[in-house]
Amino acid sequence: MNEYDSNRIYDLVSKIGFKKTEVKKEANCLVLNTCHIREKATEKIYDEIGRIKKDFKNSKKPLVIVSGCVAQAESNEMIKRESYIDMVIGPQSYHKINDLILDFEKKNKKINETEFDVVTKFEKLEKVNRSFNKISSYLTIQEGCDKFCHFCVVPYTRGPEYSRPIKQIISEVNNLINNGAREIVLLGQNVNAYNFSANNKKYKLSDLIRKLNYINGLKRIRYITSHPKDMTQDLIDCYKDCEKLMTLIHLPIQSGSNRILKAMNRQHDTKHYLEIVKKIRKINKDIRFSSDFIVGYPGETEKDYQETVDFIKNVGFINSYSFIFSPRPGTPAAKKKLNNLEESKQRLKNLQDVLKNIQLKNNNNFLGDYCEVLVENQLQEKGKFFGRTKVMTPVIFESENCKLGELVNVKVTSLNQNNLFGFHKNNKVKAA
Ligand code: SAM
Ligand code: SF4
Repeated sequence: MNEYDSNRIYDLVSKIGFKKTEVKKEANCLVLNTCHIREKATEKIYDEIGRIKKDFKNSKKPLVIVSGCVAQAESNEMIKRESYIDMVIGPQSYHKINDLILDFEKKNKKINETEFDVVTKFEKLEKVNRSFNKISSYLTIQEGCDKFCHFCVVPYTRGPEYSRPIKQIISEVNNLINNGAREIVLLGQNVNAYNFSANNKKYKLSDLIRKLNYINGLKRIRYITSHPKDMTQDLIDCYKDCEKLMTLIHLPIQSGSNRILKAMNRQHDTKHYLEIVKKIRKINKDIRFSSDFIVGYPGETEKDYQETVDFIKNVGFINSYSFIFSPRPGTPAAKKKLNNLEESKQRLKNLQDVLKNIQLKNNNNFLGDYCEVLVENQLQEKGKFFGRTKVMTPVIFESENCKLGELVNVKVTSLNQNNLFGFHKNNKVKAA
């Protein structure tokens, strides 16, 4: 979502004459769009500002703006801790950035703008065309969260759940397709909680997917990140007949121990999760799952941890994310006694080894076969391209005639844990 927000911030500031530069020292304004989900991310900002200070030691100080969730959570404290920062802007008020910059230039007074103004934000963004498009483009459809898992800052930094009007979303999709996008990744902290009402009709994520499935020019649809509680039958049914809906489902479970899930206030258990997996696999056995895991949650025992490892093996998750629990100020879990860090590090390493093995095994299944790839980029080396399979696995392949944005069949000749390698020859064989 930060990538989406950063691009939208650029769309806005380009209206008042700013242009991107790849050379940091040439910049007269630097925007650090931040993440607050784990502590490491927060500390990285202060380290980066230290580097900026050094880079600009002998030149005019640039305007330094911190946006995103750290700005929201720490607001004025950031300016107090680091006077090199001129402005903090929360994730629900960045649509005001141009006025704030012009105001700062006039008054030279530090600015702290952290209001939750999500409706106006998207109304304003709707009027600004997207200038930066990729073949696979992100599109935020939902923000915020009402679930309050005990470890998570999102409900405090992004605010309550908000779903964008369906018309606004379709219009942005069309804008993206006209600019060359062929895959849309629908984004939300709880994307499958999407719920918008207009003219006495309720629209859920499944309704939106069905509408997008009809749009000419759009080839692939993905959505991220989902909560198991909102994986309802209508959404599961989309896998029966929406052929553009891709076959990797990112569905965080966090832990394989019901005791820990309860302590996390996750509002689902492993049984519910497995029922979802079973229903979806019944529709299409090629669907794969990926997930998020937190290890070392306060009170996690060796038994709880082993249950998570067993759960991973049982579902066979590919491509997952895993983290050591990071206490976030203001959340209920932050008040709990921390687990031993060395033990948590060891558990994380072992868990990641299990995940890597599954990923490698899954990639091995492609060896010698053809897979459908959306061509996203041309690599510097002549005749080499980059794309992804239906389940998001990166593919680097040779081709004499493929075009960006095309779906091609690639024969896989080698692989490693993260990538497949192969070649494309005139789509002679139908992909599995
Ligand atoms: N809404 C999604 C869900 O319900 O699972 C997750 C979105 S959250 C922004 C992204 C991931 O960050 C989470 O799934 C979780 O694994 C991780 N995360 C969030 N808070 C964390 C914390 N305090 N410590 C470690 N990891 C955390
Ligand atoms: Fe955070 Fe996801 Fe839980 Fe919401 S549902 S509090 S975003 S982990």
